Amino acid sequence: MPSREEASDGRGDSDDGGAKQAHFVFVPLMFGGHLIPSVDTALMVATHGAVATIVVTPSYAARVRRTVELTTSGRFGASAGADVRVVALPLDCAAAGLADGSDDIDRIGMELELEYFRALSLLREPLERHLRAAGAPYPTCVVSDFCLPWTQELAASLGVPRVCFFNLGAFSVLCQHNVNRYGAFDGVVGDDVAVVVPGLGDRRFEVTRAQAQAFLTGWDDYDDAVDRALDAADGFVMNTFTGMEPEFVAAYAAARGKKVWTIGPVSLYHRHTMSLAARGRTADIDADECIQWLDTKEPNSVVYVSFGSITHMDPKHVVELGLGLEASGHQFIWVVSNTELYGETVREFLHELAARVAGRGLVIRGWAPQVLILSHVAVGGFVTHCGWNSILEAAVAGLPVVTWPHFSDQFLNEKMAVEVLGIGVSVGITEQVDSQEEGKGNVAGREMVEKAIRSILDGGEEAEERRRRARDLAEKARTTVQEGGSSRDNLFDFVQSFGG
Ligand code: UDP
Repeated sequence: MPSREEASDGRGDSDDGGAKQAHFVFVPLMFGGHLIPSVDTALMVATHGAVATIVVTPSYAARVRRTVELTTSGRFGASAGADVRVVALPLDCAAAGLADGSDDIDRIGMELELEYFRALSLLREPLERHLRAAGAPYPTCVVSDFCLPWTQELAASLGVPRVCFFNLGAFSVLCQHNVNRYGAFDGVVGDDVAVVVPGLGDRRFEVTRAQAQAFLTGWDDYDDAVDRALDAADGFVMNTFTGMEPEFVAAYAAARGKKVWTIGPVSLYHRHTMSLAARGRTADIDADECIQWLDTKEPNSVVYVSFGSITHMDPKHVVELGLGLEASGHQFIWVVSNTELYGETVREFLHELAARVAGRGLVIRGWAPQVLILSHVAVGGFVTHCGWNSILEAAVAGLPVVTWPHFSDQFLNEKMAVEVLGIGVSVGITEQVDSQEEGKGNVAGREMVEKAIRSILDGGEEAEERRRRARDLAEKARTTVQEGGSSRDNLFDFVQSFGG
């Protein structure tokens, strides 16, 4: 990497001889589960007096600007007056084999994911040009999503350090790293044969090849490039907290030989209803309406059901889940995304179900204000696909979870919730489900769903114990971001370390 002195052109630093102002350039992956915590982290960094630039494509600029404006205006967030800049750079879609204007993965579809990643990598030069031309302060650090290896070259060319942002937990990335490092599946035939994750001392976790698969596995040589760029990074910032998984954070830092700043749970940055309701994107239900509905319910009596920002449930899963929810007899809020992609049968099913459970079940089609809902006292449990943000958000809210993983790190996050934290009950899914392939993968039947929901919401010693562990975790999450807490200290240290 060239030294800061070598990369001198276009710096635009103030030449008053004083210390340079810290300027963190966030390059997030524009997938909901990556972008949302990355924006939160940028806002947190900016509350410490640094400048934060968030780089997005035009399709995402409006929603990120809304979050930034809400939280920096001082009315709804902790970042009053903070200097957060949103830079919108168009993708060269044609060069990457995408249709013109395809800069939103939700609209492109996951089948063109690889082309989308190619298009993102073409942002390197325009972004560097922008940063050099933008004037003071010159960047002091690039904070890139771990999935964007091209940002290593960008940082090197700018002559500044690059830190990788992980929207994932330490347990999952450590398990994925160790199964590769120790060749745990060498000679193992079949995706459904379980092995013990090596290198975890006396902790014993069994995974199949499919369950241990990392995001982007098998993508030409893209996953190798990601790995090389992780090796070259100047450290990792992770949305987790040491009170949740101390041994796995330490083990991952040691395995990679990197410093890991755990700064989460970043959702705790948002404290105001308005700011929470706008997190990610504008919700498809009015936040007040949602709160009013919850206000009429008893404490811990509602189960919240959501499968994150990209999972598209197989139609038969939708039906089994709906019937299981209904049979559980419990009150629920169920978020069903992309309903327009379902055929008439599923749409009709949802319509009839909503009518049958009116008053006790609320079906939100599209996007829900998730963290706002989870923080309501009426909510007593969460049926989740085990995206890492969702697991953390459940922890923050002190909620037990029903786990229904689909792909990527979600199976390992399920293990974290069920086997490590003891706050989860599994519906029993063991195979990866390709979100694009309808009819593939095993199904959790309605009885399994009903049983799992009952086991987290009903009484009994085991359920109470699970709830107690969840409440303890919430307390740890709350204190870690407060004065003297490890995430707060780590954030401060991170800003100091790369502050110019
Ligand atoms: N989310 C939300 N409303 C929704 C669906 C998702 O606010 O209707 C947020 C959720 O709070 C979380 C993120 O989107 O912060 C999803 O991230 P996660 O890691 O749980 O799953 P992914 O979308 O990456 O599969």
